[in-house]
Amino acid sequence: MVAFIRTLYILVLVAILGGIVVLFWRMENQRPTISYNEFLTSLENNEITEVNIKGSTIRLKDTFDREFTTFSPDIQSLVPRLLEKSVIIRGQDDRPSPVWTLLGIVLPVLLIMLAWFLLASKQMGKADEGESDKEKGFNFATSATPITFRDVAGVPEAKEELVEIIDFLQKPKKYSKLGAVIPRGILFQGPPGTGKTLLAKAIAGEAGVPFYSISGSDFVEMFVGVGASRVRDLFREAKKNTPCIIFIDEIDAVGGLRGAGGASGGQDERGQTLNALLVEMDGFSTDETIIILAATNRPDILDPALLRPGRFDRQINVLPPDVKGRLEILKVHARKVPLAPDVDMENIARSTPGFTGAELASLVNEAAIIAGRTNRKSIDNNDFDVAKDRILMGIERKGMVISESDRQTMAFHEAGHAILTQFLPETDPIHKITIIPRGRALGHTQQLPLQDRHAYPKDYLLSRITILLGGRVAEEIALNQQTTGAEDDFQQAVEIATKMVCNWGMDPVVGPMAYARNAGGFLGEQSARSHYSEDTARLIDHEVKKLIDDCYARAKEILTEQFDFLNFLADMLLINETLDREEMEIVYNCTKNKRSEKEKGVEQITDVG
Ligand code: ADP
Ligand code: ZN
Repeated sequence: MVAFIRTLYILVLVAILGGIVVLFWRMENQRPTISYNEFLTSLENNEITEVNIKGSTIRLKDTFDREFTTFSPDIQSLVPRLLEKSVIIRGQDDRPSPVWTLLGIVLPVLLIMLAWFLLASKQMGKADEGESDKEKGFNFATSATPITFRDVAGVPEAKEELVEIIDFLQKPKKYSKLGAVIPRGILFQGPPGTGKTLLAKAIAGEAGVPFYSISGSDFVEMFVGVGASRVRDLFREAKKNTPCIIFIDEIDAVGGLRGAGGASGGQDERGQTLNALLVEMDGFSTDETIIILAATNRPDILDPALLRPGRFDRQINVLPPDVKGRLEILKVHARKVPLAPDVDMENIARSTPGFTGAELASLVNEAAIIAGRTNRKSIDNNDFDVAKDRILMGIERKGMVISESDRQTMAFHEAGHAILTQFLPETDPIHKITIIPRGRALGHTQQLPLQDRHAYPKDYLLSRITILLGGRVAEEIALNQQTTGAEDDFQQAVEIATKMVCNWGMDPVVGPMAYARNAGGFLGEQSARSHYSEDTARLIDHEVKKLIDDCYARAKEILTEQFDFLNFLADMLLINETLDREEMEIVYNCTKNKRSEKEKGVEQITDVG
């Protein structure tokens, strides 16, 4: 659209310029006019060689090859005299040429069309800001710019899951012959700048298939119906080029839960666009290998309709990288720039906790700009320092970067959770401990259940509560502080304890009873007694509190006993940011060895004494 109007502009400009040129040329070539008498005299004197008659206008050439114009009141009687003097006569039709007639009709039409387009473009202005690629509302890229998995680093789990998808795209027959249904939609979820778009492009690049992309935010502030028709256009194009990938960035802008934020005016449009998307996703047949990738940083507000089987039923977390990941990402981006020998990438990776892939990319770029400004041929360590400060100042406003003391708090908190899992009965083993902020929670300790549990034994629940409280306990005994970081932990702990007392009959004093606490109308709790005496209420409160207090004391006991382990583990977390079970075991063994050495030392001294 924009390109079309631009062409039109150029055409009109050329026409006007052309007109002006012709006009000047004509004025230049305007022959001097002479009177009819003069003309007749010249004719009598045999000075005229040629005339050109058009209507009553006569253009003439004389013996000196000069040209003049004159007007004859009576051409009819002039002709015989001209013949007599053997002047060459040329005639010309005095009706306007058909070209001009045509132009007279076409030009006004063209002008009207131009005006119409200008008006339309003004109305579409907002929706149509983009360049000519975006004319259809989506971007199309083939493997001409192949981004591969080599360009994406620090997201090993995501890559692993996606290898399969690439095979699907490359050999769809192999799978359809087996009757396998190829996954249709994959949702990337994670904070901005973690490489979701990059991953999507890399899949297309690796599989060598076309890549179509569209952004949900393009549909905001658009006319009703435009978004839906763009979605349909996109799928129509994509179907012509299967196998291919469609990437929908910021899908929450269209797929957000209805009513979750946004002005009411946009609701209709969003709803229509979302519906169009769902219809298209459900609409194509299994032999059309189109994989739809979508990205969001707000998976919590997505319309559940999008997550149903056959739609975006696979979800892949793309999280900010840990220190190893950051090093890999830095290496990816440093490939393109010349580095001075003093640059220590590992050190940079260690000193950039909380940086996303995009921020690391811009760190390398900023450093290159700083080096370039002072006309150096390579980037040195100092350039990175300056660049980091600059980016940090930018980020701080967004409130994303974690201060050193926050990291320390997180490290002890998570170490506290993790250590307790090792010393309590009936716990799920540790999968991963990390102090990389993720969503609302700061750190994170992941436990993997050994098997799916349906009935939870009492010991398991007690251990669970103790582990939850361990974060706060560790902060208290190691740093002598209490922070808000334990809020979620407490909430979960109290919830479990309350259920143990009220629902599961696990408290010796209250006994096997069912009481509905906070009768909020959960269907499952309806059968429980929701009315009980003040005394019972007091008793329940007392028992829940006692349960929590006991667990708290137990946590404190274990963590005090394992104080060295706690300190060591927290230190290792500060350095590595993420530890898995084996790494945690190594830390534990190191602590044990150190302790037994110390104890030996003490014994020797007492022996001497
Ligand atoms: P998102 O889509 O998650 O917001 P992008 O994929 O647009 O993030 O990332 C923006 C840029 O940041 C990329 O083009 C790339 O240069 C850099 N980047 C982000 N994540 C990574 C990563 N994991 N590995 C390498 N580069 C990355
Ligand atoms: Zn916690």
